[in-house]
Amino acid sequence: MVKNSYDVALVVGTRPNFIKAAPLVKYFESNNLKVLFIHTGQHWDKNLSGNIFTDLELREPDINLETPLDGMNHQLSYMIKSLDTTLSKNSVPRVGVFGDVTSTLAAALVAKNRDLELFHVESGLRSRNMDMPEERNRLAVDTISDYLFTPSDDAVQNLLDENIQHEKIFNVGNIMIDTLKVNLDKILSSRTDVIDTFNINQPYFVMTLHRPSNLTNEVLSGIFTALDSFKKEYQILIPAHPRLSQFIEKNNLQFENFIFIDPLPYVQFLGLVSGAELVLTDSGGLQEETTYLNIKCLTLREETERPITVTEGTNKVIGVATDVIINEIKSSLGSKLSNEINIKNWDGLTSSRIYEALY
Ligand code: UDP
Repeated sequence: MVKNSYDVALVVGTRPNFIKAAPLVKYFESNNLKVLFIHTGQHWDKNLSGNIFTDLELREPDINLETPLDGMNHQLSYMIKSLDTTLSKNSVPRVGVFGDVTSTLAAALVAKNRDLELFHVESGLRSRNMDMPEERNRLAVDTISDYLFTPSDDAVQNLLDENIQHEKIFNVGNIMIDTLKVNLDKILSSRTDVIDTFNINQPYFVMTLHRPSNLTNEVLSGIFTALDSFKKEYQILIPAHPRLSQFIEKNNLQFENFIFIDPLPYVQFLGLVSGAELVLTDSGGLQEETTYLNIKCLTLREETERPITVTEGTNKVIGVATDVIINEIKSSLGSKLSNEINIKNWDGLTSSRIYEALY
């Protein structure tokens, strides 16, 4: 059988992966690289997957492995097998992976087990919380990668502290900001439409929650009780990740007078965020996007792998205790952000720096 030859395989599987891969697929292809673009199918929900390609003007993947919705280990083993088969049928010298999800780990293992070069985009982030699957994935993938593309200086330091060779580390900047910058005009001009669509007629908060550690009755009740105190003056919009909606439905939880909506397309979502008084989240990427957009963010977790968002002053990591959330919202609403956000290499040119390092 004659194999198809590619310059590189890029593997994605989840919403944040698509957002990170979009500028690189486009940059590589505009520089005449032949890209084998593989979707593991880890996120299949149309709101988290299908529509995003149109929204990001990202071409469809060449292959969708259609990973079944299943436990983490079952998905991992399915992905390893099917990625291995896919790569055995094509001639590809190197594989690129993004972020910290199951698809990232699966593709990294398969690439190295097949003796291919491996690069990791968004390398070096550390929460130091080994209960997070994402943290275990980051560590495993960084340990075996040949090129580690970091978003920030703190990430470089983390890798050096783990005795990763200096020569393998390339501090290329934050690829999510490439996507944000390219879409910024669309994002800002979508704001009024989104506000109209959801009949928003007051200042508002946006909240997203999807980390398993926050999806318990106790934690959710604590968070929503804290927000009850602000519902008169602020509308609270929750573009609900399927994991959150399913948890609420399964446990028959009732949270009155919050605006639950489906996950939004990327541009609309950030349009909504760009007009918010405050964002509350446990998402990783959103901490960075609020920093870039200079919107106040309270992170409902005990730690962050993105400390730069805190040092820039837009983000505060506050945990999930009800009284703390109430106090932090109050003090956040009473404070002003400084105008200038200027982080090294958050300039929209990360894809080009990755290309330069590899080719
Ligand atoms: N996002 C989106 N629509 C939504 C909520 C989030 O497009 O309704 C985007 C968001 O702008 C960010 C990414 O999804 O770029 C974050 O994904 P998620 O929170 O699922 O993952 P994490 O960042 O925690 O890895």
